Amino acid sequence: SIAMAKSKYEYVRTFELEDKCLQNCWIVVRLDGRSFHRFTSAHKFEKPNDKRALELMNRSAAAVMEEFRDVSLAYGQSDEYSFILRKNTDLYNRRQSKIMSAINSTFSASYVYYWNTYFEDKKLLYPPSFDARIVLYPSDQNLRDYLSWRQADTHINNLYNTAFWGLILTKGLSNNEAEKILCGTVSSEKNEILFKECDTNYNNELPMYRKGTVLVRKLVNIPPSKSKKHIICPLHVDIIGDSFWEEYDEILSL
Ligand code: ATP
Ligand code: ATP
Ligand code: MG
Ligand code: MG
Ligand code: MG
Ligand code: MG
Repeated sequence: SIAMAKSKYEYVRTFELEDKCLQNCWIVVRLDGRSFHRFTSAHKFEKPNDKRALELMNRSAAAVMEEFRDVSLAYGQSDEYSFILRKNTDLYNRRQSKIMSAINSTFSASYVYYWNTYFEDKKLLYPPSFDARIVLYPSDQNLRDYLSWRQADTHINNLYNTAFWGLILTKGLSNNEAEKILCGTVSSEKNEILFKECDTNYNNELPMYRKGTVLVRKLVNIPPSKSKKHIICPLHVDIIGDSFWEEYDEILSL
């Protein structure tokens, strides 16, 4: 019987390891598309930035925030998204594998679910997947430095990719030629190459490309009832300096 099976086999549970996230720490879950170099070329994403693909990433991340109220902020760029859980969350009793797998599958399933909303004319050719990790940060400064690291990465990659594809698409250079020209250049030189060779002022590129996307919760009035409701807002702003953190001071105090 089932009852007998339970008493006889139940010991296997003791092989499970405790993986509770340390108390008082910020929990960061970062997802990253698996082999998206291949995925983006199979689906002919526009280079360097396919806007619809970024919006699909943002929609999927918003779905995670709708489902998990303790995610107070998310930051995304390229094929990755980071989710910040407030430091005192007791989601899944802080069990790491539960939190990470639930967030990953909510995101991955949403990416497929919303695919057609963003790519009406494009068939999804195979199931995309994402890897995930959890990192714990004990101080607010560590958390801010983590997010600064990701946004600095957005800037470095996007400036390079914009110049690289600018040389290919507007100057007709080959991949190798473009790579050679950019090899060893610093930021100011890439800006200058873009301006002189490609007639592109980097500062006029979309903020979503240059800054990535920050998802925050905002309390808004719902007319005519004057009730208030939390909505999830995408922002494309600097999160390295202090001003974002002063404006959204409730995030660090949660
Ligand atoms: P891994 O599985 O190790 O992450 P990967 O191929 O996904 O391998 P990444 O370093 O994550 O490697 O790079 C993501 C790739 O997807 C890059 O080539 C990037 O240019 C491309 N990519 C991601 N988002 C977009 C987008 N919105 N538009 C165009 N290309 C994109
Ligand atoms: P949790 O998030 O804690 O896992 P849960 O609602 O998923 O909550 P489970 O113990 O995993 O709880 O139970 C799964 C539920 O789904 C049960 O109610 C089960 O009867 C139902 N279910 C799963 N597969 C089927 C199926 N093929 N046909 C009908 N019902 C199913
Ligand atoms: Mg990777
Ligand atoms: Mg990837
Ligand atoms: Mg990546
Ligand atoms: Mg279940």
